[in-house]
Amino acid sequence: MISNNINLKAILFDMDGVLFNSMPYHAEAWHKTMKKYGFDLSREEAYMHEGRTGSGTINLICQRQYGREATPQEIENIYKDKSTEFNTYPNPLPIEGAWELIQKIKKMGLTIMVVTGSGQLSLIDRLEHHFPGAFRKNLMVTAFDVKFGKPHPEPYLMALEKGGFKKDEVIVVENAPLGVESAKAAGLYTVAVNTGPLANDVLLEAGADTLFSSMQEFCDSWETFKEEQL
Ligand code: CA
Repeated sequence: MISNNINLKAILFDMDGVLFNSMPYHAEAWHKTMKKYGFDLSREEAYMHEGRTGSGTINLICQRQYGREATPQEIENIYKDKSTEFNTYPNPLPIEGAWELIQKIKKMGLTIMVVTGSGQLSLIDRLEHHFPGAFRKNLMVTAFDVKFGKPHPEPYLMALEKGGFKKDEVIVVENAPLGVESAKAAGLYTVAVNTGPLANDVLLEAGADTLFSSMQEFCDSWETFKEEQL
């Protein structure tokens, strides 16, 4: 195995689909809300756009379907309705293996950050409930911090800046192709965990350095992974 010469100081976790099993609800809420406004977005396609800002997704579908940008009013209404719809669903539970992995990482004295395109306050607040003491507000990058969102490298570059880390001091954990693209564009070592319905190839083609089929598998392989890859 080739060492990637990483002087590991921090792990940057994406949130939806990595820490919380929230993606099935996001996909459903996107599909349902877009349909209400006359836009076609299947549940599976929602997984392909995972990580984009809400306005980015709405604009892309509007361009494709009507050849124009969405209006600010459309974006506001659709994103508000999508969030309302999402919040009628049961509270997403943590992804199996996530808390166990975080505890291993904490024991090593590493910093843990969350880097998400999400602007869902409900989920961001629930991080503390399910992962007590793991995340600090000043070490989070959310939809409120970034202008471009994933797949742009901005969210991960901002995480480096917020945490005061260099590129070779962190690794990223992502579940979505655009999230992997974002982390790779920022020049970071990226672990993909395939917790959704997409094919592994989609994540590998996005540039993932390593792929696990679940967070539990990543957690169970943590020691070996660290030794062989970093
Ligand atoms: Ca995600």
